[in-house]
Amino acid sequence: MNGRIHSFQSLGTLDGPGIRYVVFMHGCNLHCGYCHNIDVCKGDYKEYSADEIVGRAVRYKDYFSDEGGITISGGEPLLQAEFLNELFDLCEDNGIKTCIDTSGSLWNEEINKLLDKTDLVLLDIKMTDDELYQKHIGCPIDKPLNFLNKIQEKGKKCWIRYVVVQGLNDSEDEIRRLKKLCDLYNCIDKIELLPFKKICKTKYDEMGIEFPFDKYSETSKETIDRLYEILR
Ligand code: SF4
Repeated sequence: MNGRIHSFQSLGTLDGPGIRYVVFMHGCNLHCGYCHNIDVCKGDYKEYSADEIVGRAVRYKDYFSDEGGITISGGEPLLQAEFLNELFDLCEDNGIKTCIDTSGSLWNEEINKLLDKTDLVLLDIKMTDDELYQKHIGCPIDKPLNFLNKIQEKGKKCWIRYVVVQGLNDSEDEIRRLKKLCDLYNCIDKIELLPFKKICKTKYDEMGIEFPFDKYSETSKETIDRLYEILR
């Protein structure tokens, strides 16, 4: 079968450990107000086979060394879990480590099988309030929390990613709640606080889609540094 792919990044350093070959899978089931990949979710895509994608990733294997590998991002990659099962089997055959960047909002048997083959999960926890989660993200918070439980049960590792939006989810109490939640899970190796940026607004403009979080200000480095202190 083929996967629906928006784009590739050859030598990524932001989506997982080491140097990564990043695959951006087309489509998403959520509607996060700050989404910086609206083009990946709603733009064009091409179809590729698992063989073709692994053939591309293998070219960069020398750069991966011990830590790096392939990261499957999006969009929401787990919408195409059956295809990813095929892809990750080929990655294993070729000695390529695997990472999935997901919202954790989906679960089915294909995803269950895929998680068993995944070395690392980058899991978004977007805020701690269920009502806000449903309003601004499009799913109840139970979904990513159940996904986190599965990661823990399977003895897998994950990094939590949290986009900080000033005036929405940046209070010190909110970050304390995030820390309290994450402290319950020894599968979490790292929590990344990412500043909300508006550089993606041009993509919305080009696509004729309103940028839902245009009204919020960008998050400063000072805010991120201050909130990291709470996590420590
Ligand atoms: S889950 Fe990710 S790709 Fe999907 S809408 Fe939210 S930020 Fe965008």
